[in-house]
Amino acid sequence: SEEILRIDGLSTRFFTAEGQVNAVSDVSLTIEREEVFGIVGESGSGKSVTALSLMDLVESPGEITDGRIEYRSESLANSLHESHPDAVDGEFVDLLSVPEEVRRSLRGSSFSMIFQDPESSFNPSLTVGEQIAEAVEVQRRARANPRSTRAKTSSVEYSLSSLIASTVLPSQRFITESSRERAIELLELVGIPDPVKRADEYPHQYSGGMLQRAMIAQALAGEPDVLIADEPTTALDVTIQAQVLDILADLQSEIGMTIVLITHNLGVIARMCDRVGVMYAGEIVERGTLEDVFEDHVHPYTRGLLGSVPDLEHVGGRLEPIGGNVPSLLDHELGSGCYFADRCPKAMEECLEKPPEFRAEGSEEHVAKCYLADHSYDPGRALADDRAEGSS
Ligand code: SF4
Ligand code: MG
Repeated sequence: SEEILRIDGLSTRFFTAEGQVNAVSDVSLTIEREEVFGIVGESGSGKSVTALSLMDLVESPGEITDGRIEYRSESLANSLHESHPDAVDGEFVDLLSVPEEVRRSLRGSSFSMIFQDPESSFNPSLTVGEQIAEAVEVQRRARANPRSTRAKTSSVEYSLSSLIASTVLPSQRFITESSRERAIELLELVGIPDPVKRADEYPHQYSGGMLQRAMIAQALAGEPDVLIADEPTTALDVTIQAQVLDILADLQSEIGMTIVLITHNLGVIARMCDRVGVMYAGEIVERGTLEDVFEDHVHPYTRGLLGSVPDLEHVGGRLEPIGGNVPSLLDHELGSGCYFADRCPKAMEECLEKPPEFRAEGSEEHVAKCYLADHSYDPGRALADDRAEGSS
């Protein structure tokens, strides 16, 4: 399997009146094409900000302050290698080193995102079909004319604006018959019954589960490579949750979608994911395959989360609370050692003095930020191996 995203040392800070909030710190991971990669953690652990960082939707006072987000796209690499040589590495392009308009042009067409609250993605005064058709049309126009990345529609603008609390642009409608047909196909793809009729209904006429599916359909309008799903089923009841997960699983298996799935629900992770990263206090503290993390975890935080999980077949739902408090992410309160030290039953003196780096546990694929992991891990070497592989 080939890597589609390489995230290296990603840090996102919020500069607030109370001080600097380290929402995401030094997150490194790779996402492989057609896999479902899960990010699991308690609320406030930095999962959503990681997702927003990947989508370049972090808004002031937040800012991505460090790292690289390398996306594999041969055509993008070819188009940028002369103008932005530092951004290009083989077929990979560092999205944080290219102009804002390049990143914006990838939103929807390369990366798409769905949220917990589908209402935020739809304008209540337009039909669902119109909004999906508009999204299809925008992406088609952007593809036909990559320079006109400013073209936006009411619904796309609405979903971004409700997220980032800016204003809704006046509606500019330009739906063609073929984009309407595509919208109906997309509604059908996500299992909306009677999509021809449903396309003409307004968001309030949809149930929560149906609107969730419609949001997935809208996110697919630009045929993205990577779908980022942030707590996509949290607000839904259990039956509907299962249906939405089925749809995501089908997208993965039938059209080879790469999915980054963010959740605090261990059952969802166990059911859906190939590999997992566990987040705590803005960091990935352990990552590996599902089996590595569920059955052979080494980080005491992971152990605490999964303490009640007997095996992969018997995973319950919610995370178990761990004794102690989730740390403040204010820079001056985070301390200089391991962020988990004050809750960690295994904390040693060195844990308080110096933050642990990633260390490998068994394989280089299974790593943990903890002194208890087997042996030191060389991310430079791992990346060099990746690069050698990527260019062969
Ligand atoms: Fe616990 Fe130390 Fe590992 Fe941190 S580094 S999780 S304090 S053992
Ligand atoms: Mg969240």
